[in-house]
Amino acid sequence: MPWEYSELSVVWANPSMTAEELSRLLPGRTPKAVSRARERYGRWRTEGFTPPCQRCGEHPVWEAAADGRRWGLCKACTIEEREYRERSGPALAARDNAYRQRKFKRRHRR
Ligand SMILES: [Zn+2]
Repeated sequence: MPWEYSELSVVWANPSMTAEELSRLLPGRTPKAVSRARERYGRWRTEGFTPPCQRCGEHPVWEAAADGRRWGLCKACTIEEREYRERSGPALAARDNAYRQRKFKRRHRR
C-alpha cells in the first residue's frame, strides 16, 4: 500500500521515535514498513524536499492542492484522479451497492 503524505508527515515529525513506536501511531503499518519508508523517504523531512508522486513516481507531489497532498499525487495524476472520480464515481457506487445487496441476501437466505 503506498504511503500517504499524511502518514509520512507523522514519520518526519517524530525522528526520535523508533519504528516500533511509530507503527503504533500509524494504523496498518508494521515496524518493518516504517523502517522501509524511512529508508526511502528519509528520517527527517529535508527542507524543500517534496516526495515523488505515488502513481507515476516521476513528478513531485502537488502540495498546493489538498486532495493532491492527501493522495500523494503530482499535478497531472491528481487531475486525472479527479476526472476519474467524477466519471466513474456514481457507477462504482452502484456496483458497490449491488455487491452489498447480494452479500446481504446470501447471508439471509434460508
Ligand atoms: Zn504522478
